[in-house]
Amino acid sequence: MRSSFSVVLLLVSALVWLSGCETVPQTGRSALHLVPADQLASMASSQFGQMKQDTRISKDPTYNARVRRVGERIAYVAGPDIPNAQWEFVVFEDDDQINAFAMPGGKVAVYTGMFKVIESDDDLAIVMGHEIAHVAAGHGNERVSQQLLAAGGAMALQLGIRERSRSEQQLIMAAYGAGATVGVILPYSRHHESEADEIGLIYAAKAGYDPRAAISFWERMEAQKTGGSPPEFLSTHPSGPTRIRQLNALMPRALEIYQNR
Ligand SMILES: [Zn+2]
Repeated sequence: MRSSFSVVLLLVSALVWLSGCETVPQTGRSALHLVPADQLASMASSQFGQMKQDTRISKDPTYNARVRRVGERIAYVAGPDIPNAQWEFVVFEDDDQINAFAMPGGKVAVYTGMFKVIESDDDLAIVMGHEIAHVAAGHGNERVSQQLLAAGGAMALQLGIRERSRSEQQLIMAAYGAGATVGVILPYSRHHESEADEIGLIYAAKAGYDPRAAISFWERMEAQKTGGSPPEFLSTHPSGPTRIRQLNALMPRALEIYQNR
């Protein structure tokens, strides 16, 4: 009796596991997404709305126009990978934050401090490509799913098979919150960062931005590390030399896309 129950549980778990597997666009890696994408997107959207109330939004017309222009071009080429995205590009006023982030569903923010390092639209395309890649690759969902598995185990596995109750909703919220560094910004793993670099570079090239800008941009970002703690955008990211080596390895493919588009 007990063993047959275990077998059933195992089968159900396997089913949920399989149904929760998604393929990451551009890289083909398979990733676990336990939370329905639309649910995560609506949670992110309301938290982004709260952030916009709590953070000073930049009125600088140049910054806003640039972020929107480059963001929209990249979002356009990423479109087939994430057809249900509701893109929104916002510039937050904080010159000390050399940072940018993206949330599930398509909310992207760039802090004004980032423009200390960004010299051209090609540079900005590296940042926007990277952030939009996090969204398209579903990294937020994967991080939440990993935390749900770690925290909730069996409960998390039931997510896909029955009506989501209020307590489950709270569990998702808690897991999401636990992974946040600044409110709702999920700290991605090194692997996610490298993957976002790779996909972002392809998006930038497809959108007509010179992917070679990535090398000098990340070198300048690295130079920001001197003294104090590294900028947040860097802190969870691969170390400079590793990142440059990975980008150089990807460059022939990105250049081919850029030159033959
Ligand atoms: Zn990142």
